Amino acid sequence: MRLDKYLCEALDITRAWAKKVVKSGDVLIDGTPCKNPAMHVPDTAVVQYKEQTLSLIGTRYIMMNKPEDTICSNASNELYPSVLSFLDVEKVERLHIAGRLDADTTGLILITDDGQWSHRIASPKHVCEKVYLAELVNEMSEQQQQQAISQFADGIMLNGEEKPTQAAKLNFLANDYAELAITEGRYHQVKRMFAAIGNKVTFLHRCQIGDLELDESLEPGEWRYLTDEEVALF
Ligand code: URA
Repeated sequence: MRLDKYLCEALDITRAWAKKVVKSGDVLIDGTPCKNPAMHVPDTAVVQYKEQTLSLIGTRYIMMNKPEDTICSNASNELYPSVLSFLDVEKVERLHIAGRLDADTTGLILITDDGQWSHRIASPKHVCEKVYLAELVNEMSEQQQQQAISQFADGIMLNGEEKPTQAAKLNFLANDYAELAITEGRYHQVKRMFAAIGNKVTFLHRCQIGDLELDESLEPGEWRYLTDEEVALF
């Protein structure tokens, strides 16, 4: 890899800035100063900038089982820790969460430093189904369940909104426990959909995004890197 490209990746800077950094003479390859941005950096070379040894991280794709009482933002707040605080990885500040969950929602979240990949997951322009398990405060009779299934399939008006939700698949696993698949990511969408039919979600868990299911072996707060096949799902 060319030295300027290596610096772009290692320091997260632009190509133009990397060229300036090289010309400054502060970059060493295997201990020798190098002022040529086009210089080839061998795989085994030690690259230093201002006495700091650099490393290439590459693009990362992570699944986490989000625990309750955590937030999907890059910084913790006074109430809850950020999910990123569970990651003991380098340059954690470069990562972001693809599709957020509420503080009290648990389950599958995807974390990456690849903005195009996360866009395909979270952007309304790309249809990417998300599957949730919802515990409800009120038990629903067979008739109420059938009505809710068809209301969600047809689209339902949420409080304060002008357009109905897109078709969603609802499946009851018990009278107060349901699986819901939605393709949008409106604010508190699942909770508001059940509120719109007079019920209330008491516990919400995301178990699937697109064709990717939460790895059941991950305890709350645990994470792992995605396999290449899993990354290619999006
Ligand atoms: N819908 C919600 O209401 N909350 C979430 O965290 C995700 C979807």
